[in-house]
Amino acid sequence: MRAVACTDGVLSVMERPAPVPGKGQLLLEVTRCGICGSDLHARVHADQVAGLMGELDYPDFMRSDQEVVFGHEFCGQVVAQGPGCRGTVLEGTPVVAVPIVRGPDGVHPVGLSAKAPGAYAEQVLVEESLAFPVPNGLGPDVAVLTEPMAVGWHAVRRGEVGKGDVAIVIGCGPIGLAVISILKGRGIEPVIASDPSPGRRALASACGADVVVDPGTDSPYTAAPGHGHLTTAPEALELAVGSVEKLRKVPLVDWRHVWRTAERLGKATPKAPVIFECVGVPGMIDNVISGAPLFSRVVVVGVCMDNDAIRPALAINKEIDLRFVLAYTPLEYRDTLHMLAEGEIDASPLVTGTVGLDGVDRAFDVLGAADAHAKILIDPRSAAVEP
Ligand SMILES: [Zn+2]
Repeated sequence: MRAVACTDGVLSVMERPAPVPGKGQLLLEVTRCGICGSDLHARVHADQVAGLMGELDYPDFMRSDQEVVFGHEFCGQVVAQGPGCRGTVLEGTPVVAVPIVRGPDGVHPVGLSAKAPGAYAEQVLVEESLAFPVPNGLGPDVAVLTEPMAVGWHAVRRGEVGKGDVAIVIGCGPIGLAVISILKGRGIEPVIASDPSPGRRALASACGADVVVDPGTDSPYTAAPGHGHLTTAPEALELAVGSVEKLRKVPLVDWRHVWRTAERLGKATPKAPVIFECVGVPGMIDNVISGAPLFSRVVVVGVCMDNDAIRPALAINKEIDLRFVLAYTPLEYRDTLHMLAEGEIDASPLVTGTVGLDGVDRAFDVLGAADAHAKILIDPRSAAVEP
């Protein structure tokens, strides 16, 4: 079969042996595969990530000198079943699958390990247990977005964003856009998006962001005033004294009971936005901590590979709730597929181009340079070389 493999940072189209499904595995004919920011990153920084994964006792993350087929965001049609499959997904069925496979020597991330070739290829292997039939006749151009949208869904769930909360998305690359689409699909308002690039700001609007700002001229943190967010230490101190003062003036009421009831209802903490950091470059987390209102919840989705400095005392004085998120659970992946198929979330603005296998190298260049593109898809049957 034809595939694109990366060795020493060079992407080459080549013939590779067709994969053979092992126990409990399905062989898919790839219909679409998304090019992910992680792929662009792994092309250059694979060894660095492999080092981190080594610290987590996973030795098989891709290394730059290996021949690795990328591609962990994909959909395809079942063409063969390995031994021991339960036969729950019939041949010909269009499916998406959580990109993890079990090999003879352990479990590997598809498209990010030489031991689990990905879907920049005509065919790819998946676990039957992690494969989900695409419902409602959903087309491959949308089904393929299940994986990146699941990343967004997991981030939003970990952010515990509720109706009435303000959500702020910093960085409008594919993941920021996925987060925006999910937030809007869940009825969150306002969603404020921030990106220095005009092209990405336009995509943020297309994904439904209510307010879009250029951080070079405006602050995303003050873009939607009137939500009662505290921004200064004197405001917090005044609130502490003032609320107890007021409660103690109410006759026959014990202020402690009122406070405990407010705590139980989640009303004792001042209102604060949920902020999604989707940039992942050095200085961004401290930048967010510095700009965020007091008590903000900050969800770090962008992957910064370098050492980075933050000022913990600033975060402490603002009681910033800092959370890091990774990927999604298999259930979140399944639920994302169904949200897409039911039309509850609209991810279509994310896709800005499609290429065949021969256009992958060119697509990497375009994604690395221009701001007009978000998600470029690979259609292994297409001859297109320009996204
Ligand atoms: Zn990805």
